[in-house]
Formats: sequence, C-alpha cells, structure tokens
Amino acid sequence: MTTLYNDPAEFSEDQLEGFVDLYSDRLVRVPGGVVTCPPRTPQVAVVVGGGSGHYPAFAGLVGPGFASGAVVGNIFTSPSAAHVYSVAKAAEQGRGVILTFGNYAGDNMNFGIAAEMLRAEGIDTRIVVVKDDIASAPDFDDRRGIAGDFTVFKVMGAAAAAGWDVDEVERLGNLANRRTRTLGVAFSGCTMPGADEPLFQVADGQMGVGLGIHGEPGIRDEARPSAQHLGRLLADAVLAERPEGATGDRVGVIVNGLGTTKYEELFLLYRTIAPRLREAGLEIVDPEVGELVTSLDMGGVSLTLLWLDDELEEMWRADAYACAYRKQAAPLNSIDASWTPGTSVVDVEDLVPAGAAGRAAAEKLRDIVRDVSALMHEQETRLGEIDSFAGDGDHGRGMVRGIDAALEAVRQAPEEAGPAFLLKAAGRAWAMQAGGTSGVLWGASLEAAAAVLDDAAEQAPTPEQVRAAVARFAESLQTLGGAQQGDKTLLDAILPFREALEASEEPLPEAWRRAAAVATEAAESTAQLIPRKGRARPLAEKSVGHPDPGAISMAMILSLIGEHLV
Ligand code: ADP
Ligand code: MG
Repeated sequence: MTTLYNDPAEFSEDQLEGFVDLYSDRLVRVPGGVVTCPPRTPQVAVVVGGGSGHYPAFAGLVGPGFASGAVVGNIFTSPSAAHVYSVAKAAEQGRGVILTFGNYAGDNMNFGIAAEMLRAEGIDTRIVVVKDDIASAPDFDDRRGIAGDFTVFKVMGAAAAAGWDVDEVERLGNLANRRTRTLGVAFSGCTMPGADEPLFQVADGQMGVGLGIHGEPGIRDEARPSAQHLGRLLADAVLAERPEGATGDRVGVIVNGLGTTKYEELFLLYRTIAPRLREAGLEIVDPEVGELVTSLDMGGVSLTLLWLDDELEEMWRADAYACAYRKQAAPLNSIDASWTPGTSVVDVEDLVPAGAAGRAAAEKLRDIVRDVSALMHEQETRLGEIDSFAGDGDHGRGMVRGIDAALEAVRQAPEEAGPAFLLKAAGRAWAMQAGGTSGVLWGASLEAAAAVLDDAAEQAPTPEQVRAAVARFAESLQTLGGAQQGDKTLLDAILPFREALEASEEPLPEAWRRAAAVATEAAESTAQLIPRKGRARPLAEKSVGHPDPGAISMAMILSLIGEHLV
C-alpha cells in the first residue's frame, strides 16, 4: 500500500522535489529529471531512466562514478521523448551520450526519438537497452530489463568516469548487457498511490515466478517454497543461463528486494545462493544484497549474475558516489580481510588438569548437560507458549540455543578437563549463543558458579562445594538481573531451591531432590504473581494466571539434575 501522497497524479513529481532538495549539494533538477553537477574533466554522459516507482533506480543512481543523469517518468510509465532529450542535453559534456534503460516498448520509443533529436544537433548519442530477465522471453532480444539495469548502468558509469570514449563505454555496456542474467519471484503485488487494490495478487502460499518490475505478475505461479529452496531455485535457474562467451569463473551478484521484502529475508536467501554459486565453481565479486531496483511496495526478490571479464570486473568494482549507492575501496583496503578470530570460548591454556575423581565428575557433568539439552528440546514449544502470554515467545528457543552451545562446549573440552573448566566453558558458550535475558543470566551465572570449584583438588566436588556453587549461581542471577524474590522471574525458583538445599540435613542427593520439588512448586505458583522485571512487566495483567517461563525451565532443570545425583 502506498500510504502517503498528496495528489496521486502528482506523486512522482512531488517526491522528486524532496529528493532533489535532499541531494542539492550535487544534483540539479532539469525538466523531466535530474543531472549531477558536471565533473571537472568532461566525460561521456550516461543517462539512465524509465518510469519512477523503482527507487533507488533510477534517480538514486545519479552521481560521480555512476549515472550522469536520470530521466524520471511517472510511476511505471516511460518518460516522454522531450524529457529524455532535456535531461540528456543537460548532462551532455561534449563527449557523447549513452541513453540506457530497460527493454520496454514505451521506453524504446521515447528514448529512440530523443536520440534522433540529439543526433540532429550533432550530439553523438548511443543506446544500450537492458535485457536481463530470463523469464520474459526465450530470445535475448525480446527480454525485458529488470534488476540487471543496475549492473549495466554501473559498469558504464564507471567506464565513463574513467575517461573512456563513447565507443568504448557503449561497447562495454553492450557486453555487460549480454553478460547479465536475472530471475525474480513475486510474493505480493504493488499498489499505485491512490489505488485501493494492488495491480495484481499472488494467492496465499504461492509465488509468481518471473516477475516484472511494473506491476506485471509472474509468468507462472508456484507454491512458495522455503527460503532455502527458493535460493536454490533462483541460483540454478540463473546458472543454467550462462551467457555465450562467459568463460571466466568470476561473477558480480545482486540479490535484490522488490520493495517490501525485508533485508533479513534477502540475507537468508544469500545464505543459500552464495554457497550454491561457489559449488558451481564461481567466485563472487562485490556482491550486493538490498533494494536496488524496486517496484513500489511489491513483495518479491530477484537474483542477478553479471559474468565478469577483467574490464567488466574493474568497472563493477570501481568507486561510485551516487545518491543511493556509495562504494569506496580505500576504507576497505585499510583492513586485513584475511583475519579470523580464535574459535575457543575458554582458553585451553587456563586448564588445570583434573585427577581421576575430577575427570569422573566432569564425565557426570557432561551426561547432565546432554540430558538437560534433550529436556529443553522436548519442552521448547511449551516454554515458548508460556513466554508468549506476556513475553515474546522465545524462551524455549533461547534455552535450547544456550544448552546446545553448552553441550558443544563440554564435548569439545579436553579430556583432562575438570568440572570447574567444563562449567566455565558451558557458561561462556551459553551466554554467547542463547541471546535474551535468560541467556545472559544463565551463562554468566554458570561461569560464576564454576569459580567455586577447584579442578586441582584430588577429590570430586564435595557436597559443601556443590551447595556453595548453587549459592554463587543464585547470587549471580540476583546481582546481574537486579530482581527480588516475588518479581516473577527465575529467581522465584532458584531462591527457594537454595534455601531448601541449605536447610536440609539429608545427604546431598536427597536434599537436592527435595529442594527441586520445592522449586517446582514455587515455579508453578508464580502464576499468581505480577511481573516486576523483564519483558513481561509491561503486559503484567496478561501474565497473571500463567507461570513465569524462566522459573519453570529452572525448576525442570533442577529436577533433572536431581535424578543424576546418587
Ligand atoms: P527475553 O525476556 O529476553 O525474551 P527469555 O524469554 O529467554 O528472554 O527469558 C525470559 C525469562 O528471563 C523470564 O521468564 C524471567 O524468568 C527471566 N528474567 C527476565 N528478567 C530478569 C531479571 N531482571 N532477573 C532475573 N530473571 C529475569
Ligand atoms: Mg522471551
């Protein structure tokens, strides 16, 4: 939906005024579009264009190193020949003009007529028509231009900025065009300003394969797959269209969002696409993931490959300073891109080798962590549900991530590690991977508890040490979270547990199990409490009647540990 407009018919003009004001340090408004202030050394003028509604294409691509000017038509409508002429005339610097646009009948006509007008005045004018959309027609020359506009314009803009003459810029533009391939899919249509209905609709759970960028739906509908499947589908389809003469193994890549597909979703796709391209033996050069050629508020994505050779690569990588697209090699060259961080969470040099009893205790700890992990997997959904009444529903996920990271850490710890080392490694890994409030509390507090244990000791941790570790764990939870008993947090399980454990005179295993039963009951009774800490606080009333998720998971884990103690 386009929500903001004045007179819908003036939308394109109105927005352009704001745009030009915003970039008034480098752009000049001319009838029909915008041009950059000319470079100090004259260069070939690369004039891009088409309808509007595609931002950052086309006006956002104007600037040093990219386009010299953009013709801005009405939404999804070719600009008039007079406007193309006006922009080209203003952009022209005595070294010739390249008019470049996507392959659509209206644009071909209007840009074509404008070229004739310019030539009639003795201005050397060339035309490069972008034809990257593999879904739109079997024959290259019948194909329309979509996100591939970006690669073709970029390469020509860089060549012009490098001082190439018009023949050469045109030659490279045509080469880039023949080497660019795109396939897109649509999830939802776009709505023109002032309209109530989108230009087309995609049924729930479907996607249109082979979208256009002017509100044309896909050429066929298919069931919408997972991100992973879609990534493969796009990569495989575009790879199958390897252009003739593209013998190199280096490609420029664009994963483009059409307007309302989130960047995170695009990154998710890239996660599948990039390895797929590498598997096909390709090296990815300066990939772009983001909104580069959009279609108002359309939901959808496209994948573009530009098959490089040395010249194309130089221009694809060259610096640019357009309004919506900036690229500068110098800051990047100042860092060491080959650096990788160390992977271990706890320095193995800190390890104090444990004796036989310590190692046996470590083995038991590994078993406990493994079983807690299984328990959290089993309870993930339920914990998420409890968290969703007043929180954000992620408690189960957070606990699973935390305990799984802890499990990985204790499994990877050296054989001679004792319980203190393991607990510390588990805590570090938990805190790092789990996220959320409970994650940092659990992780940091397990690490705090580890400090009470001593791997150099000849015997396994004594009942007193275990009680002290529990006390330290609880203290840390309290200090870090700043909550009190009764605030409806995990403290409402661990504090009664610690108290019961300390009060009991029974041997540790029995005392632990009895204290765990106390914790379980206390966790369940948090249902009556009103949250005073954490995410649930603002939705306090919604929480009443449901227990605190952090207290419930705490009690579950304490009970499970009890079963391991003998
Ligand atoms: P997030 O709240 O960041 O989404 P989780 O959903 O994983 O994290 O964990 C929520 C649990 O964290 C709550 O149920 C509560 O037990 C605990 N919690 C939140 N804030 C605090 C705090 N200040 N002190 C102690 N525990 C807290
Ligand atoms: Mg939560």
